[in-house]
Amino acid sequence: MVSVVQREWMARKLRALKSPIMVEYGPNSQMNYNVQRRAIGRLAMTVARTGRCLCGGVRYESTGEPLFSLLCHCRDCQKEGGSAYMAAMRVPASGFRVTKGEPKLYVSSSDAGNRVTRAFCPECGCPLFIRVSARPEIVGLRVGSLDDPGGFRPEADIFVKSAQPWDHMNPDLPKHQTYPPGRAYTPPE
Ligand SMILES: [Zn+2]
Ligand SMILES: [Zn+2]
Repeated sequence: MVSVVQREWMARKLRALKSPIMVEYGPNSQMNYNVQRRAIGRLAMTVARTGRCLCGGVRYESTGEPLFSLLCHCRDCQKEGGSAYMAAMRVPASGFRVTKGEPKLYVSSSDAGNRVTRAFCPECGCPLFIRVSARPEIVGLRVGSLDDPGGFRPEADIFVKSAQPWDHMNPDLPKHQTYPPGRAYTPPE
């Protein structure tokens, strides 16, 4: 049976998404609920997403289909996130904008010679997104900063060559020493 709490959760989600789609509750089966919940999760990831830092001083929104969802185990991401890896989602820059505050930017060079700009809150330090000079049409969201990261589905573990011995990875995900084929940022001209 679909509980009142579950019904309210779905109704809240659909309102937040401003979705024109009405979810049919059908015969109140748990299976239906799970199917609908997954559908809402996919919708949330493709239609619109919002994020904010820990203190709420910086907010952003992003629309458009994610281009690549990944878990990066490189040393830079370990430093940035203070942990074993960074959950990141590449989204179209055309659908991305900062809606409140102004993130502080830190620019460094990648091994390939790209300028990597990391954006974080100047007040609380929360990592928000990155830009890479070779691919201005892409923004790499830091998934933990999303208001609702629950629909994130990583496609691969990348830069596992730098993974820590205490890191734990999902054995079902493809593993790449650096970038998967076709996913690398090409160096600037
Ligand atoms: Zn903040
Ligand atoms: Zn990384």
